[in-house]
Amino acid sequence: MAKKGRVFSGARPTGRQHLGNYLGAIKNYVGMQAEYDCVYCIVDVHALTTVETTQELKLNTFEMALDWLAAGIRPEESILFVQSHVPEVMELHTYLSMVTQFGKLTDLPTFKEKVRQQPENVNYGLVGYPVLMTADIVLYKTDVVPVGIDQAPHIEFAREIVRSFNYRYNTKVLIEPQVKHTEVLKVVGIDGKDKMGKSLNNHIELASTPEETTKRVREMVTDPARQRKTDPGNPDVCNVFTMHKIMSPQEEVDMINVECRRAGIGCVDCKLRFAANLNKHLEPFRAKRAELESQQSYVQDVLNDGGKRARVIAQQTMVEVREAMQLP
Ligand code: SF4
Repeated sequence: MAKKGRVFSGARPTGRQHLGNYLGAIKNYVGMQAEYDCVYCIVDVHALTTVETTQELKLNTFEMALDWLAAGIRPEESILFVQSHVPEVMELHTYLSMVTQFGKLTDLPTFKEKVRQQPENVNYGLVGYPVLMTADIVLYKTDVVPVGIDQAPHIEFAREIVRSFNYRYNTKVLIEPQVKHTEVLKVVGIDGKDKMGKSLNNHIELASTPEETTKRVREMVTDPARQRKTDPGNPDVCNVFTMHKIMSPQEEVDMINVECRRAGIGCVDCKLRFAANLNKHLEPFRAKRAELESQQSYVQDVLNDGGKRARVIAQQTMVEVREAMQLP
């Protein structure tokens, strides 16, 4: 079947992936491979805007790639690579920065948020982050970028930069990427409060053993008003129930929805049921991960090969970009 076009998506190297990463992004990445020519990038250069030491970058990149592959990214079909393996992106970033107004960059809410988060390290890279992101996207002649609805303004900003470049050099060489709205599930962590994330230590790692996973599930916060097993609960305010709705068979979800409200099921039982369903769901992932891990250098070979394939596209784009700019 002919593919609909090229998809690009990038994510920072955060190491072992968790359930929130899987439901919020990786699942979509895997699904899009049937329809699109997919380019997936681990954006290690972007990570440098917030990390001060690089000792963990390599391991985090490796672990993340391993999880993506185990989850179903098919390297024979899609390109999976590391951003810094394609240095052309830095060159394009520089050219695009000349057509981007500084004031617009410093006005972006994402930049202001970063300044609030790390006032002691407001580096130049933070300001230029959206320009480098635009270079990532357009370097690979991307047609569509999958994003959740709240991320769409970032792609609109990238489209503006592309229009400025094409207008300045009277060319159509850079493609304005389209947004592909995807359902991005915001998974709440085991604390029942914040989005699942490593920094908050409220996550469930995909690569955990079944026992570790069950232990984490048992720590999940439930309906805070339900103090005793004999108190009726409210599944509508319980994160365990939300996760059941994503992972568990419909009959089980319906049963919990009824039994919780009349104290017919206790929270421990309810969590153990969820842990069992989650572990079942993760079985093929764990088997694949163990298999890939046992093949020495496999992941590195995939990333190296992906980098080479990405670079072929990137180099062609840069030939066209330099020609359009009439650089000597
Ligand atoms: Fe939540 Fe389940 Fe406990 Fe109800 S029984 S409060 S849905 S954990």
